[in-house]
Amino acid sequence: MKSYKLFLLPGDGIGPEVVREVVRVADWFGKAGLVHFEMETGLVGGCAYDAHGAAISESDMALAHAADAVLFGAVGGPKWDAVPYDVRPEAGLLRLRKDLKLFANLRPAICYPALAEASSLKPELVEGLDIMIVRELTGGVYFGEPKQIIDLGNGQKRGIDTQVYDTYEIERIGRVAFELARKRTNKVTSGEKRNVMKSGVLWNEVITALHKREYADVTLEHALADSLAMQLVRAPKQFDVIVTDNLFGDILSDIAAMLTGSLGMLPSASLGEADAKGQRKALYEPVHGSAPDIAGKGLANPIAMIGSFAMCLRYSFGLGTEADRIETAIANVLASGLRTADIRGNASHVTGTVEMGDAILAELAKS
Ligand code: NAD
Repeated sequence: MKSYKLFLLPGDGIGPEVVREVVRVADWFGKAGLVHFEMETGLVGGCAYDAHGAAISESDMALAHAADAVLFGAVGGPKWDAVPYDVRPEAGLLRLRKDLKLFANLRPAICYPALAEASSLKPELVEGLDIMIVRELTGGVYFGEPKQIIDLGNGQKRGIDTQVYDTYEIERIGRVAFELARKRTNKVTSGEKRNVMKSGVLWNEVITALHKREYADVTLEHALADSLAMQLVRAPKQFDVIVTDNLFGDILSDIAAMLTGSLGMLPSASLGEADAKGQRKALYEPVHGSAPDIAGKGLANPIAMIGSFAMCLRYSFGLGTEADRIETAIANVLASGLRTADIRGNASHVTGTVEMGDAILAELAKS
């Protein structure tokens, strides 16, 4: 039986509750004699600050480096609102992204037919939606220098952020998008603002050249990021893979997220550069946060976290069949009418985190 090393960072709030359900799913694969997952657990976010005075310890960073993949729950909460900026809970996630060089953020937006009613758009616009937003995660305006606030000395200040992209950064994220598209419906839409931004002109040029040189079999469309936002809420099913920079990706992926009903449903993957063996550092996490309002009550929807584990199987370990089994189990459970509170819709009865996990395990056993 194949064996993989997972490093679990459940974090704060509902993080540990949803990661617990993933552990049960991972253990199920081992007990079924299919794949063995060796799991170690560390601390990140507020709980790491309480234990070590840092948002993640050096020893846990070393374990993250050594693992085949990291599964991350969520961090933060009101308890840590006043901790110093450098050790705030989010600093743990940013450190992981930076040190593992996770430049590609993959956020699928899938609308299960059973949940089409939960979307803020008309059901016919979103039913069966299956798009993938590929966001550049380590460059652009969030990291470019100079980044500062200058005192102009006349009672005025100036805030500066710098949007900067080099050719290699655009090429490597473009490659991730084209490769994904080949395994899906073979279409990439690239978003930038070439009409007003030089970085957008370069982004467009580099993606166009990469497409011509290596991916001419994939359909490529370019769109201005603002128009892309509009189209995402007008007719989202026209898209397959959308690739865009850090800032636009942040916004567009949140728009796409809401098309699918609930934050509790949305998985994500963050991938690093492939090494000589084709292996990438990778971190998988739900899109949602630590949900302090429901933490500790057993109400959290574990589907985003379990879906993130399915992405881990698919993208880190090449276990597409096993990932399909998990995703089918989730779809079947939803089709059966089982609902956590966040996706309740008109359901008369709502279920809790563990019961949802039980139902997914039961479906897995049937598959
Ligand atoms: P949130 O995602 O934690 O919660 C938003 C709303 O969605 C809440 O009403 C919550 O109950 C609900 N929700 C979220 N996930 C759910 C799930 N799995 N099942 C059922 N309901 C769910 O966002 P927020 O309230 O803006 O932030 C809360 C804390 O989380 C803050 O400290 C914030 O900084 C942190 N946060 C962390 C991450 C992360 O760890 N990656 C991401 C976003 C926010």
